[in-house]
Amino acid sequence: MSDIGRLCEPIPEVAIVSTKGLRMRTVDRLGVVVCGAMHCDRSSMVVGSNSAGPNWVESPSLCVLVETSAGTVLWDTSCPRDWRTRWEPQGGNLANPYDLVGDDEYLDVQLNNIGVGLDEIDYVVFSHLHIDHAGNGHLFKDTNAKLICSADEKEFAFGFDGPFAGGHLKRDYEDLSLETVSGDTEILPGVTLIQAPGHTVGSMAMQVDLEDSGTMIFTSDSVFLGENFGPPVAKPGFVTDLRMWFASVEKLRQIQERTDATMVFGHDAEQVPRLKRAPEMWYV
Ligand SMILES: [Zn+2]
Repeated sequence: MSDIGRLCEPIPEVAIVSTKGLRMRTVDRLGVVVCGAMHCDRSSMVVGSNSAGPNWVESPSLCVLVETSAGTVLWDTSCPRDWRTRWEPQGGNLANPYDLVGDDEYLDVQLNNIGVGLDEIDYVVFSHLHIDHAGNGHLFKDTNAKLICSADEKEFAFGFDGPFAGGHLKRDYEDLSLETVSGDTEILPGVTLIQAPGHTVGSMAMQVDLEDSGTMIFTSDSVFLGENFGPPVAKPGFVTDLRMWFASVEKLRQIQERTDATMVFGHDAEQVPRLKRAPEMWYV
């Protein structure tokens, strides 16, 4: 298993002086790509939020494109077009149906509309390997992109018996050549992967430092909703290890407080309308 932290080229010195007087490296621009939405039972995101059967709510699916002088990163790959059949092994094309997506909202169409070719993406980073984050990893199978997840995530994702376990569908990633990171790792200037396990054993968040917009933290499913983050925190229903989850939330909170970061949560339908969305608007 390779470790991308050692494989990376030395990071070029592009330091600038931030408004706080701290030297920090920043990215060129960042685009939030909203690939439509799934339906999910709200109790999977906030425990105890339904009492009489499922409470179906909209669960938007986010990817993030980060452009830097040293390369382009795609954070997560959303859900696949063929989810109705691909997700059958979990019996779960009904559990989280990806049925709130327009023809122009699939990841490949959106990247095309942004004007970024698949072969122009240098790193595809999976926050974790669940079906709604690794679902389009296959698009990059034959490109030169480095495909990255955490070492703990890869170990789990290849280690269970059978085709599917709790959100991991081997078909999504078993043919991919996945490189790994362990520990918090700055993969490009201003782009840092943060270990934030709990939702899965190897979930990560991404910190991005921007010149005008400041620091942004993309939690992916380490924190589904602003409501989970609080304070006070609200426990998620769908979680692998609750103790790890609490520790990760407090770790992210410390980074947020230190950097005054904007938090962008994994599936927060209330937050998405307030985000700038590519290709019309970018964070710089
Ligand atoms: Zn998810």
